[in-house]
Parts: sequence; C-alpha cells; structure tokens
Amino acid sequence: MARMIELRSDADTLPTDAMREAMARAPVGDDILGEDPSTNELQAVAASLFGKDAALLTISGTMSNQVAVMALTQRGDEVIVGRDAHLYNMEVAGLTTLSQVQPRAIDAPHGQYDLDQMRSALRSSSIQSAATGLICLENTYNLNAGDVCSLDNMIGVRRLARAHGVPVYLDGARVFNAAAALGVPLSALAEQVDVLQICLTKGLGCPLGSLLLGSRAFIEKAKRIRQRLGGGMRQSGVIAAAGLVGLQTMREHMHADHAHARLLAKGLAALPGIGLLTPEPQSNIVAIELATRNPGLDDLIEQLKARHVLIKKIGERQARMVTHFQVDTADVEYVLKSFRDILAPRLA
Ligand SMILES: *Cc1c(COP(=O)(O)O)cnc(C)c1O
Repeated sequence: MARMIELRSDADTLPTDAMREAMARAPVGDDILGEDPSTNELQAVAASLFGKDAALLTISGTMSNQVAVMALTQRGDEVIVGRDAHLYNMEVAGLTTLSQVQPRAIDAPHGQYDLDQMRSALRSSSIQSAATGLICLENTYNLNAGDVCSLDNMIGVRRLARAHGVPVYLDGARVFNAAAALGVPLSALAEQVDVLQICLTKGLGCPLGSLLLGSRAFIEKAKRIRQRLGGGMRQSGVIAAAGLVGLQTMREHMHADHAHARLLAKGLAALPGIGLLTPEPQSNIVAIELATRNPGLDDLIEQLKARHVLIKKIGERQARMVTHFQVDTADVEYVLKSFRDILAPRLA
C-alpha cells in the first residue's frame, strides 16, 4: 500500500527506527518503586531542559493535565482557562468530574490571553463566590489553530497570578513548537509557570507519553494522584527510551514543520473555493474553510484519501492539517497538487 500523507494530527506520526531500537534495548525496572533507570533518566533530562526541579512521566497529555489540576486545586475552586483549550473542551469534563472545579473560560485571541478578562475573572472567596485556584495556559494554543502565545503575554499572566497568589499551569503539549516559533529557550517559557506538561507524542514523534514538570513537592503529590488514577507504571522504560530519543533528536524539526505549514497555507490560499482560517500559520497547524459547498467537505476528504492524503474535519465546512517530521516539502507540493486536481474541475 502506498504511504499515506498523514496531516490529521502530529500525534499520528509513527515511531522512528531509532526509537524502536532504543525501546528494544532500554534498561528497565519497576517505576512504581522508582527503579526504572530509563524513566529516571528521561525525567532528569526533561527537568534540566526546562529548568524545573523534577519531572513525572505519565501515559498521556490528558492524564498530565488532569493530574496537575487535581494536585494544584481544591474541590470548589474556580479555574481560569482559555475558551479553546484542550483541558476545557477535549478531556471529557475532567475538570468538573475529577477535580470538581468550576472552569471560568476567557478569550485568548490569536493565542494572547486577554489580561483584562483575566483580571476580572480572578476572584477571592466570599460567602457566595468561589476563589480562583489556578490559571491554566496552553502554548501553542488551540488545537485547530496552533497560535503562539508571546513570552510577554505569559509574563503578564504570571504577574497577575503572583499578585493574586494563584499558581499558573501550562499545557505545553506543543511547547516545542511555541519555543521554536518564538525563538526562545524552553526554560524561558517554563520559567513563567509553576507547573507544565509536555507531550512526547506530538512534534517529538514518540508513540506514548507526557511529562509533568515542576517543584519536587508538586511532583511527589502528582505521583500519588497518578497512582490513584491507575496511571502508575511498571517497566515504563520502554516508553521513556523513545522519549529520550525524541527529546534529544527531534526538537530541531519544528522549524521545518512551521515552514511546511506556511507553504501549505500559501498554496491553499491561491485555490478557488478555499478560505484560510490560519492565513499565516504561526506554528504547524493549517485550518481551511470551504467557501462553497461544492464539492462538499466530506467528498473532498474522501477524494484526498483516495490520493493518500489524510486531513481532519473540524466543522461543517472546516478542516485542519498538521505538519510534522514525517511530512516533507515534496509531500506538501503533492498535497497542493491533489487539492488543485480535485477542486479545479468542479469549480470550472
Ligand atoms: C494532544 C493534546 C493534549 C492531550 O494529549 P494526549 O496525549 O492525546 O492525551 C493536551 N493538550 C493539547 C493542547 C493537545 O494538543
């Protein structure tokens, strides 16, 4: 079968040969006892890369997000969160069911958190109001846009949070993309928050895993919550080994991925019948809107699939494409040609 060009998500990459070899060779032990050497090494490498005291491997970004909120809040707190955040929209209401906190959504146009809205959303407890227990950021922001939150905006959030004595959490599923787009070290972003989560499965291309990063005290608390959720692992070194390869060798790809997203957006913008929701992609995500129902989006997706191109439907007339290290420049050109071939006859 011909290779599919996978643009639905950067989570849908396949592990590299180097990752599979590292997984096969990984020294392992019981991680619940803290005796898995590969997991310990990955946690130490990640903590030092981000300038945090300690790290904890979890099975997914979703688990990290939920463990973090449970560790950082109390039942009945309010949590400020971006309206388009994964934590708020894509985690089966974990905020309200697991942590039993009340989300207070604010706007973050183009990934910049509205500090005025955040200021008025920050509340202390009274006889009738719940206190804000946590501010949750996401960078890059919005899984259908990949907007980059500026360092200045993050500093602004940090300042507000400090003034109110509220901790800040960062969902950094795509923090490698954010740092590459901003041209700042990972530690500069991590420094603005108390705790963050990074996904090994997005731009880094690993098959599994996420890391929570924070103070030693936070990580000890998070470890017990992860255990309570059934997320304690035994020989997790097989996952960690791929994670180490990802952290050590895959970070440089983000610049090329972003260039490919811009190339894709530029080519698509030139086609009749297609509008860009991300006219100038800031990272690795391109979203389009069909200006006409002809051809319908489902039909377009099917026809692209027949040409071995996979894109993801995100609305009635909207779709997204996410670039990653398994999509090269020739692939982007082929995708554009496929769009042209499908659309041109129909709009003629
Ligand atoms: C993918 C993603 C997650 C969740 O990661 P999983 O490993 O799929 O659970 C969380 N937040 C953001 C912003 C993501 O893109």
